[in-house]
Amino acid sequence: MWRDAVDQTRLRAPASFDQWFSGVQFDGLGDGVLGLTARDEFVRDWVKKHFLPALLDQIQEQLGDGGLQVRWRIQTKLDDPISEAKPPEAEPAVERPRRLESKSPPPRSGPRASDGETPRAGVSEMLNPKQTFGNFVVGPSNELAYAAANASAGGGGRRYNPLFLCGGTGLGKTHLMHAIAHQMVIDRANVRIVYVSAERFTNEFIESLQHHRMEEFRTRYRDECDLLLLDDIQFLAGRDQTQEEFFHTFNALRDADKPIVVTSDKYPHELQRMPERLVSRFTSGLVADIQVPQLETRVAIVKKKAEIEGIPLADDVAHLLAQKIKSNVRELEGTLIRLAAKSSLTGRPIDIDFAQQELAATTPRRAQVMSVADIQNAVCRHFRLSSAELLSKDRHKSVAFARQVAMYLCRQRLKCSFPELGRAFGNRDHTTVMSAVRRVEQLRKKDPEVDAHLEAIAERLAASDD
Ligand code: ADP
Ligand code: MG
Repeated sequence: MWRDAVDQTRLRAPASFDQWFSGVQFDGLGDGVLGLTARDEFVRDWVKKHFLPALLDQIQEQLGDGGLQVRWRIQTKLDDPISEAKPPEAEPAVERPRRLESKSPPPRSGPRASDGETPRAGVSEMLNPKQTFGNFVVGPSNELAYAAANASAGGGGRRYNPLFLCGGTGLGKTHLMHAIAHQMVIDRANVRIVYVSAERFTNEFIESLQHHRMEEFRTRYRDECDLLLLDDIQFLAGRDQTQEEFFHTFNALRDADKPIVVTSDKYPHELQRMPERLVSRFTSGLVADIQVPQLETRVAIVKKKAEIEGIPLADDVAHLLAQKIKSNVRELEGTLIRLAAKSSLTGRPIDIDFAQQELAATTPRRAQVMSVADIQNAVCRHFRLSSAELLSKDRHKSVAFARQVAMYLCRQRLKCSFPELGRAFGNRDHTTVMSAVRRVEQLRKKDPEVDAHLEAIAERLAASDD
């Protein structure tokens, strides 16, 4: 059954199948669980996104029952990959991951960049060839981040060091980092770029400590690095020793005037368990945030993605997807890819009916209906306030508390930006929202009553959802 599904998938994407599935191992299928191991997170995410939906559909069709769970493991060296990596013959698959590795640290299995292009930069994690500046759609929600990223890749404009890119998940932070790396490699043949997730940085640091290879580690991150791209810094929360090491890495690079770009899912001062000296370093250059894109930008993004992937997409379907999937570009793309996969498996064109059906089946209702107003209403009902009071300038303690709770919940559940929330709460300054959110976070730790309020409001929200 598994083999059938794999064969079908291979047929569907002959050009890129081997490249990706040589990085994946099949561990077993049983009890509603499919076990897979990926060579690294990048392969896992790619396979998850581009192949798994169709693959699961295949298996489920044969199993004839519902929910199949996938359990992923990561293991650098695979014993029995699903496919052998073949050297590229005739025409290059556009989807082939470009693997650029640095020479020194831990050897990794799998194919090296062999698409006729020698790796010119020491990039430690794979770059997604599609995540370039050209493929990034610019709109009001991300133009600052885009311009700053472009400038740090030498595209003109002032270069800030460090550049701190922050925003909710799936909004394009990693894309911009890859774009910087691509651009630098194109412009400066011998530039040594280190692109690494904070998680990998941590793991390498620990390994180096264990194996007494700190010298090597430092050489790699300080001396042999002209540009450091560190993704998802929030991962360092609470990891004191790695933070300490990173602090020195940071200082060494900055003293040598080498650019550093960091991404995070939070603003610097929102990062928890991160020492003040690091937070202040992060804010010493430019903090550029990425907000949730507006409708027009979302339409443009989904169209762009369809164009890149060669998926025929009518305007009305593009609009529908962009309208329904608001908070996250990754989800928007995922839905498009899923539609395309289903369409090619079933032979059904991607029209508006088909798209609507799919959306109804996959989008949880809650995500569609919950809005700032819903949360404000639930909070008002809970604290017996009118919404005018909630949005007023009234600083009376009980009203102020209710307001802070509402802001906190909006931030937590809807991932709205601070400026956006400020506007939604009677045109307040974004710093007011920030301190409200922080205050509720702190109160929760000390005061169980606060949690009780939050739970009661959550219940109201859940009830009004049905
Ligand atoms: P993050 O790192 O912020 O979680 P990613 O950079 O991984 O998000 O983006 C998620 C997906 O959305 C990627 O496939 C990326 O290419 C795409 N994406 C995000 N923003 C844009 C944009 N403005 N234009 C084109 N694609 C985008
Ligand atoms: Mg990312």
